[in-house]
Amino acid sequence: MMSDFSFSSNPVIQELERIRQEQIDESSSNLQSNLIYFNLIIFILSSALSYYFARRTLMPIEQSMEAQNRFAADASHELRTPLTVMRSEIEVALRDNKFNLSDAKKLLNSNLEETAKLESLSKALLKLARLDHNPRADFKRVSIVEVIKDAFEKVEKLADQKSINIVCHTPKDKSNMKLRGDRESLVELMVILLDNAIRYSPKKSKIEIITYGNEKMVEIRIVDQGIGIDQSDIGHIFDRFYRADQSRNKDNIDGYGLGLSIAKSIVDLHGGTILAKSSLGEGSEFVFTLPSSQ
Ligand code: ADP
Repeated sequence: MMSDFSFSSNPVIQELERIRQEQIDESSSNLQSNLIYFNLIIFILSSALSYYFARRTLMPIEQSMEAQNRFAADASHELRTPLTVMRSEIEVALRDNKFNLSDAKKLLNSNLEETAKLESLSKALLKLARLDHNPRADFKRVSIVEVIKDAFEKVEKLADQKSINIVCHTPKDKSNMKLRGDRESLVELMVILLDNAIRYSPKKSKIEIITYGNEKMVEIRIVDQGIGIDQSDIGHIFDRFYRADQSRNKDNIDGYGLGLSIAKSIVDLHGGTILAKSSLGEGSEFVFTLPSSQ
């Protein structure tokens, strides 16, 4: 005869069943909390990574907007200064009852100087704006020796006024001294570097132009015996509107700090590099290298 027996009614088995259920509950709640932590970590990590990559992508845009804002602020400041000078001179003259013809001439001469400053500043700003839009269309085969000659003719008078001797060393074989570029801009590049070398050099000093070319590149070095550039300034001189302190204070040399940024834009446009080396009080050397064309 069979006895009436059921597993579920067995207390031992029931207890085992209960323990097993408890273990299942515990591990499922452990799994749940682990999943929550895991998801939380993934969420935090992905948010941090997205933030990092978004900042990395936006940084150059932010920097370029900041640079543009700074440039606009600096440009308007520089444009306003001559206008303020002219306005206050005219106002003083209008209030002066004893204002005579000779005073009028002085006033006009001073106004003329200020308008010349405005003209040169607006020319520099226009040049920078044009270079920013990459005008490679005018590129032709250019001899760098001819470029140096043209630039020399433009600064010769200024050098003579300070009895500065400009010496140019060119190789006998000039076949490597050719490149594809915009002749007018390259002359401007040489004029900027020579004009600086003259303005920041003492009277009766020497400026050397040393040229070198091979089948890959053309290298031009402009070496002066001028006031030199402090090491703390040398990293900034190609920035727009940057002027080293000694150029502002010493002989009060006029300038807007735009020449070298135009020079750098011209070199960039031709796919080259430019750098400056200097010892304060001893002189400076500007070296630019451009790809040559046979
Ligand atoms: P600017 O000469 O009109 O101030 P630049 O952009 O041409 O502007 O030059 C920037 C600065 O670099 C100058 O203010 C000057 O301090 C320094 N500099 C440039 N060329 C020379 C040089 N040959 N010798 C000494 N300092 C120089």
